[in-house]
Amino acid sequence: MDLKLQQYINGKWVGANSGRMRTIINPYNQEIIATVPEGDESDARAAIAAAREAFDNGEWAFTPATERGAIVRKIAELIERDKEELAHLESLDTGKTVEESRGDMDDIAGVFRYFAELADKDGGELIDAPVANSISKVVHEPVGVCGQITPWNYPLLQASWKLAPALATGNTLIIKPSEITPLTHIKVFELMEEAGVPAGVANLVLGAGDTVGAELSNNTDVDLISFTGGIATGKKIMQAASVNVKNLALELGGKNPNVIFADADFDIAVDQALNGVFFHAGQICSAGTRLIVEESIHDKFVEALVERVKKFKLGSGFDEETQMGPLISAEHLAKVEKYVEAGIKEGATVAVGGKRPEDPELQQGFFYLPTIFTDCTTDMSIVQDEAFGPIITVEKFQAEEEAIKLANDSIYGLAGGVWTKDIAKAERCAAKMRMGTVWINDFNLYFPHAPWGGFKQSGIGRELGKAGLEEYTETKHIFQNLKPEPIHWF
Ligand code: NAD
Repeated sequence: MDLKLQQYINGKWVGANSGRMRTIINPYNQEIIATVPEGDESDARAAIAAAREAFDNGEWAFTPATERGAIVRKIAELIERDKEELAHLESLDTGKTVEESRGDMDDIAGVFRYFAELADKDGGELIDAPVANSISKVVHEPVGVCGQITPWNYPLLQASWKLAPALATGNTLIIKPSEITPLTHIKVFELMEEAGVPAGVANLVLGAGDTVGAELSNNTDVDLISFTGGIATGKKIMQAASVNVKNLALELGGKNPNVIFADADFDIAVDQALNGVFFHAGQICSAGTRLIVEESIHDKFVEALVERVKKFKLGSGFDEETQMGPLISAEHLAKVEKYVEAGIKEGATVAVGGKRPEDPELQQGFFYLPTIFTDCTTDMSIVQDEAFGPIITVEKFQAEEEAIKLANDSIYGLAGGVWTKDIAKAERCAAKMRMGTVWINDFNLYFPHAPWGGFKQSGIGRELGKAGLEEYTETKHIFQNLKPEPIHWF
């Protein structure tokens, strides 16, 4: 592997202070694919100090936005140049199909391009002050030093949503990837160095959540923490961030409803219901894992899903035939199995799947069969908890109001879908669904200029879109009196 396999702190490629290393394995066959430094709190502190200095000296923050934008655009170009290598690394690390990883890389380049274009279009505004002879302007400034923490499911994609807006707006940053998927983060730092990001502005620290991640959340020299991951970790980070009242952006989990009315286009709804979940083996925060189907078509719909699921080809992400790869780790596979056991105990019926595959070729990998549960009710843990695996639960409804009630019966509020040919009904549902994104006759589509984020416990703040840029700016009001006069109060 032609990668530096090190951390990047203050413009230098470095090992861990402790000298400790971590092996990274391929979830398809458990082979060791890389050995990387295992940073800890001391590495995080060194990176924070570098980012603090790079912010406080003002060079990056006061670099003209057009120049910062040009560097961010250059990163996009380099990602496009090295797309195959990046896609290969992402699939090696996560097990997802290389075709999906290629799509991720296109999206990632698109994210850097989008924020590059926005960099010099956030010049603030003049407002009318209630005082004659004055100028009142509102400007947006970088927040400062940003701590960024990413998960393992879409490693570089999630990183791009944080890196691009932070750099475009003149912040400095320290990013920590999930300890099990660091490879594309390392590669993109090589590209960021090549693109001309100055030393200290962007730093990469590798290591665990309770060491590096906790230091980023706790350290009072960090001004903003942006986290993508599970709810339990998000709550810890929110608590830690209170130490200096950090700005906070949390992109947490989802248990996303997909409501299918009887008047939907049946075949397309079936097809997209499958796509909405089983892509990347269900390890998608926005996976439409809670199918809510109108009773009159329920049986036929489930039958059609099951028939298709039985034909899925599981295998290596590098095999062109493969439709679904493995889960990320042995630990995660065990967690998914527990959810299924709980579902069976609670009285749900396994319509298909519900176990590991028996195919001898898949025994070295962390594979789980795509699974559909019927006879589900909202009180079941399998309906309420995020399994983050290839599992669909199906519930039934009779009336529109009931469908909305079921869809909203969750602590999560990340995304949801509604399928119907009745546009008025679709709009009524979308208006009442308490989620950050609602798709009508589609599922899982996102793009850089549309905001992304959750209602309820799915998170705080937004990534992507103009809102995603605003997360990385502070708003300042500058008032100038052009004709000052004494007030004569005292
Ligand atoms: P996780 O919460 O276990 O870990 C995420 C990151 O947090 C990792 O880098 C981990 O090392 C770090 N971390 C762990 N403990 C920490 C601590 N105490 N302090 C600071 N950092 C810590 O999540 P995961 O298993 O990697 O990812 C899966 C979760 O991510 C799912 O819940 C999924 O829904 C969510 N997710 C959400 C979105 C979104 O856009 N809302 C996108 C992708 C994934």
